[in-house]
Amino acid sequence: MAGVASHAVITGSTSGIGWGLAKAFASRGYDITLNGLADSDAVQRLVDELKTEFKVQAWYSPANMMKPDEIQKMIVEAESRNSKLDVLINNAGIQHVAPVEEFPESKWDAIIAINMSSTFHATKAALPGMKKRGHGRIINIASVHGLVASPFKSAYVAAKHGVIGFTKSIALELADTPITINAICPGYVRTPLVEGQIEQQAAAHGISKEKVIRDVILAAQPKKEFIEVEHLAELALFLAGPAGRAVTGSSMTMDGGWTAR
Ligand code: NAD
Repeated sequence: MAGVASHAVITGSTSGIGWGLAKAFASRGYDITLNGLADSDAVQRLVDELKTEFKVQAWYSPANMMKPDEIQKMIVEAESRNSKLDVLINNAGIQHVAPVEEFPESKWDAIIAINMSSTFHATKAALPGMKKRGHGRIINIASVHGLVASPFKSAYVAAKHGVIGFTKSIALELADTPITINAICPGYVRTPLVEGQIEQQAAAHGISKEKVIRDVILAAQPKKEFIEVEHLAELALFLAGPAGRAVTGSSMTMDGGWTAR
């Protein structure tokens, strides 16, 4: 549809990396469908901020990424809003850290559902429309933990490796279409998800948050600094833009050298 702005659906975008991606895409003129678990006041503030600051259209889907029918509804409603969905960013994710013998089954199931299976459900729902319109970019926010492992994160590492495998498989399925699918693999970004881990580790080891950041969190990240959300967003914008058209099935790291070891 001529004259209609591009539209990006970003799962888990009420916080952290997803919210940073939403602001970056809005700043380039994309209409945005936000998603995530947040109360209605917080959601309204985020929607208003996108509309006011970037003069784009913005909506919110309350879809729970553990529920396939809600994910499908999110995509159907998103496509009905401005008649297109150009970019799908599968970003929602949670973490739980525990030895495997103590890992709660419910946490395993939730991490596999939110961090991995939601990517399948959203992609499956978005592809028919993208194929019909002859355009689409799918960006999966994986992690360095999709490429390498750390102990005590079995569900997260399994889910993120799964996202990368899924990304490669679908890239091959879509090779004769103009649609691309890629994974971005960040090292540590200082979001609420990571703040939670810093606080847990500080309490568990009886050490300061600063010591946890230096000796535990950033121990594997040679550059010893957190990845900036704005820089991740530039990588996503590249994949969504015209220069990204030949990039598909890739797992692009932004990890301060982590996976060079
Ligand atoms: P975050 O906790 O700040 O944000 C997570 C988002 O997911 C929130 O909007 C939350 O509401 C949403 N979410 C959680 N459960 C949901 C559900 N059931 N249904 C719908 N939405 C749900 O975390 P973040 O650090 O911004 O992480 C975003 C993504 O980036 C995740 O996939 C994470 O694994 C990945 N990642 C993060 C880091 C990091 O260091 N922060 C590094 C690599 C990859």
